[in-house]
Amino acid sequence: MSALPNSIEARDAAYQLHPLVDLKAYEKTGGLVIERGEGVYVFDNSGKRYIEGLAGLWSVAVGFGEKRLSDVAKAQMDKLPYYHIFSGKTHGPSVELAEKLVHMAPVPMSKVHFTSSGSEANDLVVKLCWYRSNALGKPEKKKIIGRQKGYHGVTIAAGSITGLPRNHQSFDLPLPQMRHTLCPDYAGTALPGESERDFSGRMAAELEKLILEEGPDTVAAFFGEPVMASGGVFVPPEGYWQEIQAVLRKYDVLLVADEVICGFGRTGQMFGSQTYGIEPDVMVLSKQLSSSYLPLSAILMNESFYEPIARESERLGTFGHGFTASGHPVATAVGLENLKIIEERDLVGNCRERSPLFLRRLAELSQHPLGKGFRGVGLIGALELKPRETPGAAGAALAEAALEEGLIGRSIGDAFCLCPPLIITDEEVNAMFDALARALDKIAA
Ligand code: PMP
Repeated sequence: MSALPNSIEARDAAYQLHPLVDLKAYEKTGGLVIERGEGVYVFDNSGKRYIEGLAGLWSVAVGFGEKRLSDVAKAQMDKLPYYHIFSGKTHGPSVELAEKLVHMAPVPMSKVHFTSSGSEANDLVVKLCWYRSNALGKPEKKKIIGRQKGYHGVTIAAGSITGLPRNHQSFDLPLPQMRHTLCPDYAGTALPGESERDFSGRMAAELEKLILEEGPDTVAAFFGEPVMASGGVFVPPEGYWQEIQAVLRKYDVLLVADEVICGFGRTGQMFGSQTYGIEPDVMVLSKQLSSSYLPLSAILMNESFYEPIARESERLGTFGHGFTASGHPVATAVGLENLKIIEERDLVGNCRERSPLFLRRLAELSQHPLGKGFRGVGLIGALELKPRETPGAAGAALAEAALEEGLIGRSIGDAFCLCPPLIITDEEVNAMFDALARALDKIAA
């Protein structure tokens, strides 16, 4: 940290509470100040350039400094910087984006509700599931099943569905309605000789066992990321989603696809649900929806999810929910323009075309003396390292060495995760892995 008492680093450490750090340690070390971005690169306040190998937080699909988005934001700011959609009001940008999302959806969808973050959206889906069960005269059907190592956010309900101890411990989570089933980590947890298909069958059998133990009449929904990202990038093994969906259908349990990271091209198709043949009742979208240029998330629901909710609001005389920023005109205008860019530049096609090189280089690095394996699909992947004595130490050391080499990624335990902007070129993919290879050599030495 800059020693100067008035430096941005010192003032940051003095005044700001940061996510995902040891707060006491941060008071002493401070953080890295990122000042500007351009394409797949960001620059710190000393002018050093980094490849943003995680697209910020798995989100900046169109890269940094996309002028079309700042222009649209400015134009909408000038025209109507804010309005709400409560009590019978609406505005153009929210309507246009809602219509666009319904038309883009990979399965028939009916209504969209906008929120500002992935957590908020997942939290609201829980509330909507509860409201809907009440509407259907099934007030006992309220339990929600997530997965160990799943990530759905940090608000009280979304944080409860998340299956990571650090998001529960000392926060008095999870809520009593939440359950967690196994993480489909095939490489890490398959039985000796177990095929991917058999493993997937076992995951589904475990889910069925949990539903039967709880009582199918008490389980409302299952939440899953098509590819689990924040838990360490776990790509579903063969047949996994088919087996899981068969169990959910058998017991009338809703399927919520949390597409917050997979949505808009990450896995090589527009939605992760398409890559894995998932037919969700509800889709949760964020991050690449606006490339995170502004906070925006959306809940996309089918008619059979929506209809009982609408009926209940008729009975009660109003739908008692809404956020000040729901459908925010500047955020939805930016979201719409961002989706136009993704389509016009065929960034989903770019993901598919860059993916073989991305996965080949990941596979090669897994052969490094410090490598243990790799996982990936499209332009999201993880290099698993051989653990040191302290779990997570190898991953942390690699993240630090990568930073020195001009690459920002994310270490999750001993997995080093990459999820670059979808605009990335082959040269930039190679530059990213060259930096990672140098970092590996450095910590091996
Ligand atoms: N769901 C998934 C799959 C996510 O990856 C994230 C964020 N990493 C969230 C939900 C939460 O989103 P937010 O941080 O915007 O609340």
